[in-house]
Amino acid sequence: MADLERFSMLIGGKPVDALSGRTFESQNPYTGRPWALVPDGGPEDVDAAVSAARTALNGEWGATTGFARAALLRRLGELVGENAERLARLEVADSGKLYREMIGQLTGLGGWYAYYAGLADKIEGRQIPSPNPNYLVYTRHEPVGVVAAITPWNSPLLLMTWKLAPALAAGCTIVIKPSEHSPVSTLAFAELIEQAGFPPGVVNVVSGQSREVGAALAGHPGVDKVAFTGSTATGRAVAHAAAENLNKVTLELGGKSPQVVFPDADLKAAANGLVAGVFAATGQTCMAGSRLIVHEDVHDELVRLVAERASQIRLGDPNDPETEMGPVANGPQYEKVLGYLRTARDEGATVAYGGGADEGLGGYFVQPTVLTGVGPESTIVREEVFGPVLSAYTFRTEEEAVELANDTPYGLASAVWTKDVHRGHRVAAKIRAGTVWINAYRVVAPSVPFGGVGLSGLGRENGAGAVSEYTEEKAVWVELSGQTRDPFTLG
Ligand code: NAD
Repeated sequence: MADLERFSMLIGGKPVDALSGRTFESQNPYTGRPWALVPDGGPEDVDAAVSAARTALNGEWGATTGFARAALLRRLGELVGENAERLARLEVADSGKLYREMIGQLTGLGGWYAYYAGLADKIEGRQIPSPNPNYLVYTRHEPVGVVAAITPWNSPLLLMTWKLAPALAAGCTIVIKPSEHSPVSTLAFAELIEQAGFPPGVVNVVSGQSREVGAALAGHPGVDKVAFTGSTATGRAVAHAAAENLNKVTLELGGKSPQVVFPDADLKAAANGLVAGVFAATGQTCMAGSRLIVHEDVHDELVRLVAERASQIRLGDPNDPETEMGPVANGPQYEKVLGYLRTARDEGATVAYGGGADEGLGGYFVQPTVLTGVGPESTIVREEVFGPVLSAYTFRTEEEAVELANDTPYGLASAVWTKDVHRGHRVAAKIRAGTVWINAYRVVAPSVPFGGVGLSGLGRENGAGAVSEYTEEKAVWVELSGQTRDPFTLG
């Protein structure tokens, strides 16, 4: 245990251990060995963090201007950039994601803080004309209060930032609970909060091995808003817990995103988009483009192209710059993906490439997999796998393509591949999803709203609108004549 790196939580501006003194080991999914020691917080630590966040809100932070918050956000963004390499390495060790993906993500992360710094000093109310000339009416957009942010194991810092940056811009305080599978980068990130100059208690981080920690935070009576990214099942529990307190909630959940390919599409570009959509990040992304809905005339050619590229994907050490696909992030997830592959075969799917574990490498490696012979009723087409598995099936008409694309309880992301500009926009308008890419896949930006419909979630992250997810609008009525009358006097 001596060689394990140790990390602390952040509560009230101080690096702290769990009140119980307990710790847990974080596993490296590539080596299969523990590599870091993390505080095993519990509900009592959540209480302390929520209380610190409330104290900060009622103190100095509650009085900061948007201009001051913008400066702090800008500094935090710079610090993230300066520490990108360390943070990326920690994410790789914790989640098995590729260093080259995580360094890209971490280098770009400062852009989110810069974008919300730009909005922090532009949160404006408005003056509303009143039917009675004796009144001046205006609105104020005030911070919603103490935010609970609960994040999953894939891309922990990116998904945390989608909550933290707009919450800080709005003037909220926050308690962050990273996933028990990849808590370390968030704990290391917390070290930058004081350096950036935020007052104690504005940002707090609690780690814990038990799922009870997230539950305690989501349902905490001291919390005013819950922002969650994770699975649909947990999202439902979070929404219930938040509803008990009648709290605002944003949920970024799972998906079963379709990639619709028309016969006039550039098939090479579409194949690249399919590979980016489902094999990059080992398919462990909420926006994985896991359903290929392809016109029957180009099915065979496109499947051949994707299978060929899949066969060339280099699996290996996530830290090796040559590696294109790393392992699945943890044991239960690995078993889940292999289980889905067995079910698909039992239900009659044909394996065009891959189809199982890659045992030669040790660790939790799954082959990039392309399945055909599936249909809209197949389990592999209906359920989120969260692994490198693409399921292909065909359509004949545009109408049928839209119907198949929308035949899912989810609605997070999607793509349309066509050279016909009319058709591209027409189909984009008909797909029920928070994002449609035309001839592209898996592009996100701080300025562009992201979120889902149906079982994929509630509310939007990113974009200017995300700030209003963290504010409450207050109406102020000002009587101007100075002659408020006795309400019981007639005339
Ligand atoms: P998960 O739902 O198991 O856990 C997410 C977080 O919730 C973790 O921090 C966990 O400890 C916590 N948690 C567990 N039980 C809780 C409870 N009862 N109350 C409150 N919090 C609780 O998800 P995961 O396995 O970590 O992540 C994978 C899932 O996340 C996938 O389904 C994926 O699609 C989804 N995801 C969605 C997006 C998006 O933006 N839409 C992004 C990434 C991942």
